[in-house]
Order: sequence, then C-alpha cells, then structure tokens
Amino acid sequence: MPDAAEVPTPESSPPTPPRRRSTALLGRERVVVTRPDWAAATIPAHRKPLPIITRAALDQPGTAATHTRLSGKNREQNDGGWPPEIAALRERGAEIRRETLRDLEGHLAALTAKAEANGVVVHRAATPDDAVGIITGIARANDVRLVVKSKSMATEEMHLNAHLEENGIEVVETDLGEYIVQVADERPSHIVGPALHKSKAEVGALFEELAAERLPQEAEDLAAFARTRLRADFHHADMGISGVNFAAADTGTLTLVTNEGNADMVTSQPRIHVAVMPMEKVIPRLRDLAVLVPLLCYAATKQKVTVYQTMLNGPRRDGEPDGPEQLHLVILDNGRSSIVEGRYREVLACIRCGNCQIACPVYRTVGGHAYGSVYGGPIGAVLTPLLANTKQGRDLPFLSSLCGACFDACPVKIPLPDMLVDLRADYEAATRGRPRRWLWRLWAKAWDSPRGYRLTMTAARLAGPLLPRAVLRRLPGPGRGWAAGRALPATRDAGAFRAWFTDRRPR
Ligand code: SF4
Repeated sequence: MPDAAEVPTPESSPPTPPRRRSTALLGRERVVVTRPDWAAATIPAHRKPLPIITRAALDQPGTAATHTRLSGKNREQNDGGWPPEIAALRERGAEIRRETLRDLEGHLAALTAKAEANGVVVHRAATPDDAVGIITGIARANDVRLVVKSKSMATEEMHLNAHLEENGIEVVETDLGEYIVQVADERPSHIVGPALHKSKAEVGALFEELAAERLPQEAEDLAAFARTRLRADFHHADMGISGVNFAAADTGTLTLVTNEGNADMVTSQPRIHVAVMPMEKVIPRLRDLAVLVPLLCYAATKQKVTVYQTMLNGPRRDGEPDGPEQLHLVILDNGRSSIVEGRYREVLACIRCGNCQIACPVYRTVGGHAYGSVYGGPIGAVLTPLLANTKQGRDLPFLSSLCGACFDACPVKIPLPDMLVDLRADYEAATRGRPRRWLWRLWAKAWDSPRGYRLTMTAARLAGPLLPRAVLRRLPGPGRGWAAGRALPATRDAGAFRAWFTDRRPR
C-alpha cells in the first residue's frame, strides 16, 4: 500500500471511525442513523488516505461478520470453477465485449439512431455534472416531485440522489438492497448486493427505526415491510430512473435484469422514464443477450437467468395500457472515451456482475466502503483511478493481494491483476520524487550482495529496539505517511535464520 505524504498521522491507538448523525429518505420519511463518514452515500471530496480508512474499517463492529458472510458466498459462488456450458459462454462473452470496444463510437451511433427512431430521446453527457444537469432539467420541465429509482451504478458516479434532493425532488430507491442503504444514508458496498455488509438483524433494527414500531424480524417480513412502503411510491412517482444492463445497437432495445421486479414498476408506472447508461453498456446485437444475460446471472448469483428481464423499445405507444409518455436515455462518458483509446480499454468490457469483488480476499476483509469510492473491489481498484472525475483513488490498485482470483472469477476475462500492477507502476511514476527513487535503488544495490544484505540486517537489528511504533509514527515529512499503515517487523537474533535453515537442510 502506498504511503501518502498528506496522511494525517493517527495517534498511538487505532483511530475510531468518525461517526455522524444524518437523515435519510428526506421528505415524508426520516430515519436518524449513525455510520462512519467513509461509508456515506455521498463520498467526501477529500477522502482520508487508504491506510487510515482500511484500519478504521477493520476496527468497525460487524466487519468480521461481513467477512464470514462474504467468504461463505465466495465458496458458494466460485468453488469448483466454471461449469463447461458456462465456460463456453465465457469465451463467447469475452469476444463480444472486445468486439464492442473495438468500435464503441460506431455502436453508440447505431444505438442512438435506432433508439431515436423508436421514440427515445437520447442525451450524451461528457461528465457527471452534465448528466445531472440533463436529468434535473427533464425533472424541472415536467414538474417532477417524486422519483422512484431502480439500481444504477452510473447514477452513483454522479451522486444523483443528493443533487435531485437539493432541487427539492424526493428520490426513493426501490431495489431492496439499495433501499436499505438509502435508509442508512450509506452508499452500496457491492455492485449487485448493495447491502451485503448488513446482517438481517441490522436491517431489522433499521426498519424498526423507520417504522417507529416493533416489526417481525424474518427476512420475508422485512422484505414485505419495504414492499408495502414502495408500492405507494410506485403509484405516486412522476419519474422513474433506472440503469441499463445492455443496450442493443441493432434494435435500440434497452435491457434491465432484476430479481425483484422493481425495474418493471420503475419503467412502466411513472409518466417519465430516464435510463442512465455508461457508454460501454452498448452491445452490437440483440441476440448477444443470449450469451451475456446468462453469463451475468451465473457470475452474479449462480442463477441460470434472473427472475425478471425488462426490455424497453420506446415510450408508450397509442393503445398501450402502460409505459411512460417520455423515455430518455442518458449516455455517460466520464472519461470512458479516453479509457477506450488506451491500454486499459479492456476494463470497459465489465458487465458489472460483482464476482471479482466477492472473489477478492482484500475486499472480503475490509468491505466495499473501505475503498472510499463508488466501485470497490478489484474492478473498483482499476476503474476508479481511470474515471475522469476521480481526483483521488489512484492509490486503490495497492488494495490487492495480486492473487489472481479476480481474473478467474471474471465472466468476461478482464486481466484485472495485470492492470493492477500496471496502475501501480503509473502511480509510482506519477507520485514518487527523485529522492524516493534513489532510496529504492540504494536498497536494491545493498541487497545485491550477501555482504550488503548482512550489513543492512545488522543495522536493522541494532536500530529495531530503538524505534518503537510510537517513534515511527512521529517521523517527519513523507516518512509519517509511510509509517501510518505499517507495522515494523520484529528482527531475530543474528544468525537465527541460518541456524534454523542449517537445522532443516537435508543432509
Ligand atoms: S470485472 Fe469482471 S468479475 Fe468484476 S464486476 Fe466486471 S465483469 Fe464482473
């Protein structure tokens, strides 16, 4: 993990996660919740350095239980590898995604033409601010007061909910996991399971606070509680906002896959629907869904197909009983058109299954919020530093053990470990000054010979007892940041390793 010269030095004990009281579901429903700042729905402009957040995350009550839950899910999901029929889809899916990226603009132009012919209003947003401006403009022009939302990570990139609420528009998340994190004023900790970090008991307590009464605590009861509340919102909402899983360039069809049916309600009940899509979600042909949908479902939840698959071909037509009067498609760039031109292009092949997150031992240990970004886990560690609105997050590639599990888990074979290594090199080249480089070279030179190695180890043995942890934390300048996330290893007595080795050497 990199040091950070700007790291505020923790005191001798591990830092207590900062907590604040806040409100969620502004408007009719309010619930007061507490949570650490680094899990907030809106990521602070200046997040604390990784060593500080990860240490705080490890000290957070519940982190160990989340680790146990995620480890169980990883075993269910990834033990045994890919069955032969899915392995074949994986090969084909990887090809389709790379074919898409080779001519991304061409496919987007075809999608735009088809969608417009179907009656969809297509908008291109270069930045998250542009997208917020477009969506807020549509809402204002149509006097929208209440928005129901289906899961969309692209809207997380632009902190859309906060912006709409600032404009007096109430927003209700309708995916159960998203609803839970919205009530808790947190952001999703996982792409597919936004509330994976919460236990059933935590959700029960949260809903009881929202209901201001005792509730039955079985999972079905808690889901029923959310469903009852959301039902009224579906009927009263003026606008529905959703993501897009795949958009077919040859027909202009927007496809959403869900297990709860909330996307069907969001896209059919309100009079206006806005679908928000990062530009790489386009696919060349409608028939590619036959490969990509089962692949996404298997990688995300080991299902053969999701319970609901919603396909949109335009707004309501004459004689149709339901559907929106207006259908808008907002295509978000946010740096992706630069990524697709560069050596990290393949990261845009991602189909957002979240399996690399579950497979990653670091993600399972610290949890998704510890990444301090919209996307956590290996995909987040690669994508976040590349997105244009990310001033911070360049250190995320260091939050990985480089074990390679993310590549094995990826349904479209994105070489995430290679990218993590390359991004680390980029980070080093961009941030390390000359003195630091000389220091590393000097160390490499010293350990180039047995004599140099012995000399440095003797020096470390002598200096070790004189440099307790508290002293290290008070190092001046950049050394302070370097020491913040590190423990000094204990040195052994001179010759201890050689004696141990000689003892065990076959004779
Ligand atoms: S990088 Fe691969 S495994 Fe990770 S979310 Fe994307 S498609 Fe899934």
